[in-house]
Amino acid sequence: MTPNQITFNFDNSYSRLPDIFYENVNPQPVKQPQLITFNQALGHSLGIQNLESNELLAETFSGNFIPNGSSPIALAYAGHQFGHFVNQLGDGRAVLLGEVINGQNERFDIQLKGSGKTKFSRQGDGRSALGPVIREYILSEAMHALNVPTTRALAAVTSGEDVYRETSLPGGVFTRVAKSHIRIGTFEYFMAQNDHQNLKILADYVIERLFPEALDADNPYLEMLYSFSEKQSKLIGKWMGIGFIHGVMNTDNTSVAGETIDYGPCAFMDEYNPQSVFSSIDHHGRYAFANQPQIAQWNLACLASCLLSLVDKNETNAKEKINDLLTDFSTKVNKAISKTMVRKIGLNHKNKKHTEHLKKLLKIMHEEKPDYTLSFRHLSDVINNEEEAFKSQFANKDLISDWLNAWKTLLNKETNKTDEIYNSMNSVNPLYIPRNHLVERAIKLAIEDNDFSYMLELSEVLENPFIKQDVDADFSLPPKEDEKVHQTFCGT
Ligand code: AMP
Ligand code: MG
Repeated sequence: MTPNQITFNFDNSYSRLPDIFYENVNPQPVKQPQLITFNQALGHSLGIQNLESNELLAETFSGNFIPNGSSPIALAYAGHQFGHFVNQLGDGRAVLLGEVINGQNERFDIQLKGSGKTKFSRQGDGRSALGPVIREYILSEAMHALNVPTTRALAAVTSGEDVYRETSLPGGVFTRVAKSHIRIGTFEYFMAQNDHQNLKILADYVIERLFPEALDADNPYLEMLYSFSEKQSKLIGKWMGIGFIHGVMNTDNTSVAGETIDYGPCAFMDEYNPQSVFSSIDHHGRYAFANQPQIAQWNLACLASCLLSLVDKNETNAKEKINDLLTDFSTKVNKAISKTMVRKIGLNHKNKKHTEHLKKLLKIMHEEKPDYTLSFRHLSDVINNEEEAFKSQFANKDLISDWLNAWKTLLNKETNKTDEIYNSMNSVNPLYIPRNHLVERAIKLAIEDNDFSYMLELSEVLENPFIKQDVDADFSLPPKEDEKVHQTFCGT
């Protein structure tokens, strides 16, 4: 017998918070939902049951059918967008179906994106075009496989309805899973209203849900800020290591759970260029690749300023503590980046000679603009006396040969076995990343031909980014000149 609904172990703590935190709003049904894909492994790990029927999956993950125990809400938040404060943003095209508790007693948000209007929609239609749905599905799962903390992709469906952007486009609904959808902008929402009572409620909620260890500290609010800062520094270190450019690091797109969230105009850098910017809306390069650590610090300052009076009733003391936090973040993030990067060349960030040698490589790379991913990936092959693939990335052969010889000398002084170094390097230097042109190809096929096979194939390859697979070499190669993607769009 086919079960008549998908079952979730819901426990909706956010909807037990005061009304001002959200709007109770159901997803608006779509005309003809069809399942593109459902992430079965993730579904099972969340303890969701009765996942066999595609029809039921499409009905549920389009918002047409609201499962038992769900309490759909749109969350209120504000945020700094490109440095400018906007006092009300909120879930304008998303609803939180609820929070599930899995077998390990962990709590996750299940959110539908593109599910219709809410009171936060402003001029928007509450819908999502299919392109961004596919993009977020591929990107967020790829990031997870690359060992980067991120929101996850549970399902993607087509809505059977068109949405109107500059032209008419097929619509879709995306299901996102997150440790929580609370953003720095959620704190700013209450701060902007001078609502200290609800700020405290939010801070206490966040500590209990995301930073329970902070409860034991003398100053739990300050401790929470330090824990967040630690997570955020590691996250940025990981982004830098794989050439990820978030593209729109606004405070409303910064999760306090330390996960990568909101895959809008994000991109992976092909050629190494620290000033890389892809987002069509980032006119001044605020969110360029190399700026991400400083922007994360700026965002942390926004969060900290909301918590000032909770950190210390004495304003001068509170500011001093926050200044220390921000200085500490700077140290932490630089260390995280250095650790990640030096590991990519098989060496140790604690050794000054090693960090200097990394800098030399980056300088050469900056001048020559080789492929970021393949340069590091092929460096490990040199250990097996295969130098060609690495060297082929560089035009000035003498320069890179000198660097390589010095690298070998450093490596020879290491006590670790060479095969251990080789394996360690290959475990942090991916062969497959969601290159912009591959993602665009998947989107184009889906939108123009209703063909999702390439999206699914690409997603499968990206599940194992560190292992060479028996697939078309195209999946690992940079774009040809005419395939290059120069700009990415929010596409909301
Ligand atoms: P984002 O681009 O995801 O960071 O969104 C910024 C803000 O715009 C958020 O408040 C979104 O909910 C809202 N938004 C984006 N697209 C839409 C849409 N199609 N309809 C309504 N609100 C939207
Ligand atoms: Mg956003």
